[in-house]
Amino acid sequence: TGTLHIVATPIGNLGDLSPRALETLKSVAAICAEDTRHTRQLLSHFGLERPLLALHQHNEEVQAAQLVARLRGGESLALVSDAGTPLVSDPGFRLVRAARAAGVRVSPVPGACAAIAALSVAGLPSDRFVFEGFLPAKASARRERLVRLAAEPRTLMFYESAHRIQESLADMAAAFGGERRAVLARELTKLFETVLDGPLAALLAQVQADPNQRRGEFVLVVEGAGDDADAQVIEGRRLYARLSEHLP
Ligand code: SAM
Repeated sequence: TGTLHIVATPIGNLGDLSPRALETLKSVAAICAEDTRHTRQLLSHFGLERPLLALHQHNEEVQAAQLVARLRGGESLALVSDAGTPLVSDPGFRLVRAARAAGVRVSPVPGACAAIAALSVAGLPSDRFVFEGFLPAKASARRERLVRLAAEPRTLMFYESAHRIQESLADMAAAFGGERRAVLARELTKLFETVLDGPLAALLAQVQADPNQRRGEFVLVVEGAGDDADAQVIEGRRLYARLSEHLP
């Protein structure tokens, strides 16, 4: 049987594609990609041409069966996503699960991951942390999720996009308290890389005041609740978050 290589690609700076990643992508029969056009561009930058197969959330279950058949037939394949590490807020876990169930070797080629890159520069406790990925798009579900995280003592990490960064920061300030420390990591490894830190209320004010701070891609790293987190204060915020759903 072949090997399924899970290959990390850059999150912005193309210099972050590792030599081993390049070597692996060169060696496989085909590359499964979230967006084949995007990956074709990446490959052509490195002078590489390989057969590409689309693997995204809408076809993953069906594709996985066919890909596992090819792997069992002796072909090695690679999985990449548009940016960073596959499976981290990206497709792939169904394919990996199917490959493992079929006894196929699954091997990582590690590299960039936006969450870990952000954590590494945040200066917040990093011995224990929780990755929450993207918050729900619907305001009520988002607030509910945040309220349930208010007493979490570990450092929290979220992914966010440009069009919801203001709302998410505002909802976090409401659920966790405006004084909770956080770090907003924007456009990591890219031209406009910016890492802002401060209390949630201050970060929100900065993002509201400067449209440039709302552009690009974000990781939000939020300090966990302290030992002294007062149960009554948290309960008060929970109530406030619930009430605010009914406000305009
Ligand atoms: N698999 C990727 C990884 O390993 O980080 C994440 C894919 S997820 C669909 C895309 C999100 O990751 C963006 O919305 C943003 O929150 C975060 N992200 C990706 N690249 C980033 C960057 N250069 N700077 C900050 N955040 C980034």
